[in-house]
Parts: sequence; C-alpha cells; structure tokens
Amino acid sequence: MTTASAAGAPAPLVGVLALQGAFASHQERLAQLGAPTRQVRTPADLAGVDALVMPGGESTTMSKLLVTSGLYDPIGELVTDGLPVLGTCAGMILLATEVLDSRPDQLSYGAIDITVRRNGYGRQLDSFETELVMRDLPVGSATFHGVFIRAPKVERVGQGVEVLAEHDGVPVLLRQRAVTVAAFHPELSNDHRLHAQFLNTFASTLDGGEAATVQGGSGPSEPQTGSERTRSS
Ligand code: GLN
Repeated sequence: MTTASAAGAPAPLVGVLALQGAFASHQERLAQLGAPTRQVRTPADLAGVDALVMPGGESTTMSKLLVTSGLYDPIGELVTDGLPVLGTCAGMILLATEVLDSRPDQLSYGAIDITVRRNGYGRQLDSFETELVMRDLPVGSATFHGVFIRAPKVERVGQGVEVLAEHDGVPVLLRQRAVTVAAFHPELSNDHRLHAQFLNTFASTLDGGEAATVQGGSGPSEPQTGSERTRSS
C-alpha cells in the first residue's frame, strides 16, 4: 500500500516491528522523511506494508515474542518474497544466516548471508560511539555518527553481500538484495540519511511507477545526548 506524499510521489508504508526495543525512534526518523509508518504487533498489522524495520532491542526476547505473537512465519514469508527490510542491532541478528553466542532456541531468518556474534564487541567496547565513513549516503557529510550498544559483530560476510560501512575493518552496515542491516543504531543519531538510503532502495519499485527519490537532507541535526536516547539492552 502506498499513500501520496505532499509531492505527489508514492510514499511507502513502512511497518516497524514494535514488540520490544527502539522502534519509536525509527518511526521518528521515517516521519522526518515523510514516510508513513505502522507499528507491527500482530500478523494483521503486516497487511499492505511496503517495507519493514526490525529495531534494536534484545534479540532473544524478540525471537520469543515473534513466535508468541504469530508474526514469525508471516514475516519470514514476506522476507522470502523480497519485502525490503532494515534490521538494526538486534534486528540484524534476527535477519542473519548464522548467530554465534546465541541461545539454542533463538531463531533467525537467514535473510542476509552473514555470521554475527551477539555482544561481539566485548565488555570494554560494550557501548561506544564513533564516526563511520559511509558509502552510498544520499547527501550530506560523508560520515555518520554510529551508536553501538552491545552490538553484534560481523564475523563472516557471504558472497553477494555488499559492505556499505566498516569500523576498524569490521563490516557494520551491509546489504543483500532487499535486506539492509546495521550493527549500530542509526535511529538514535538524529540523522535520517540512512533511513532515506533504505527508502531509496525500493521507492522506485512501488506502485505509481516514477522513482520517488527521497532526499536525505543535509545530514545530522542536533545530536542527542546519551540521556535522551532510549537505551536498548
Ligand atoms: N545485545 C543485543 C542482542 O543480542 C542487541 C543489542 C541492541 O539491539 N542494541 O540481542
């Protein structure tokens, strides 16, 4: 389902998985871009969504809630059918092919061919912030403020997976077909360019034909302070 944006171009309806974690900040970033969002808590909430965001939080908890809410399989089918998905932090874990240091009953979709280690940055770097050099950002400065909170570490990248940003030689932003994943929290940096980049990966394929290129703005506005952020575990 698409709705007309102010400019007349189709605006995608983005579902934001809202079982747990930092979903509200994703909605804020998307709202800044004029993209309507819907919180997804039940299978019925998936009807008509053009894309899905899987937020940061706690991937073991989210994996359980996906099953108890009845969302696990319907989301799996949509992802297999090519639904564009953005997964951040715990969302990245849920989309990976292989998850290390996970509980044995933790589920993941295998939607992007990477191996990730939960909490892979270890105690000392449990949470940190850094300027990331990005490939492909629409406009604005070349760096993006990366907020890492008990982030997963990518230990293997399969063929066909594009690495869009690295930190200390480790991939932290990756894409395979319609699936984009970030080890960090772009929704917490008050910079909507990465969300714009995500919208642009599929905006041209929406009903209505014409490519609706989303402008990424001029980069970050006022950075948030640690206390303003929704800390996800
Ligand atoms: N450490 C969390 C997990 O393994 C992810 C942290 C996050 O999403 N900020 O699920």
